Amino acid sequence: MMATTHALAGVALAVGVSLFVPEAGGLPVAAAALGGLFPDFDLTGDHRKTLHFPVYYTAATLIAAIVAAAVTTPVTLAVALFLAAAALHSVMDAAGGGLEPRPWLARSDRAVYDHARRRWIAPRRWIRYDGAPEDLLLCAALAVPGLVVLDGQAELAILAALAVSVVYTAARKPLVALADHLVPQIPQDVLDRLPARVVSFVADYR
Ligand SMILES: [Zn+2]
Repeated sequence: MMATTHALAGVALAVGVSLFVPEAGGLPVAAAALGGLFPDFDLTGDHRKTLHFPVYYTAATLIAAIVAAAVTTPVTLAVALFLAAAALHSVMDAAGGGLEPRPWLARSDRAVYDHARRRWIAPRRWIRYDGAPEDLLLCAALAVPGLVVLDGQAELAILAALAVSVVYTAARKPLVALADHLVPQIPQDVLDRLPARVVSFVADYR
């Protein structure tokens, strides 16, 4: 799923919680948005493994939720919602497509890494790939609670995330087609100077 879908899933969750604790303010909502994005910061590392923890984030969320229920402050709520959104992200990735340059071809059997069982979870493909039309639909649906309840900058941020999502969805397949066209034209001596990780990704296009 798109990073924006994950972020808005976190926001929707935080908005739901904020209905019970309105005095907590905007911090928990912002933390949830960041928590929804956070796992994908491993995009340049071992993607869907280094910062994706479907089991451990979930366990940490339970502990943080108990703490936040016992001592309810904006900070304890923010920590719990950050972890909850990161957990939701890691679990949601299993419902999407596989880890491959063209996930719509459905060739990969790796969706997200389960560190607890030391194995990859297979993609369910309920959302076929990030940037699929159904991903955009889910993203828009998850934006609704925030748009209804929040205002000001938070509302603008949600609208901006939706705009990014529309552009990404429209560009997703054309960008890969463009890469298919451009990558074979990269001279070998340039490829030799690129980091191994980039080369392995580029090599997928050859
Ligand atoms: Zn992810």
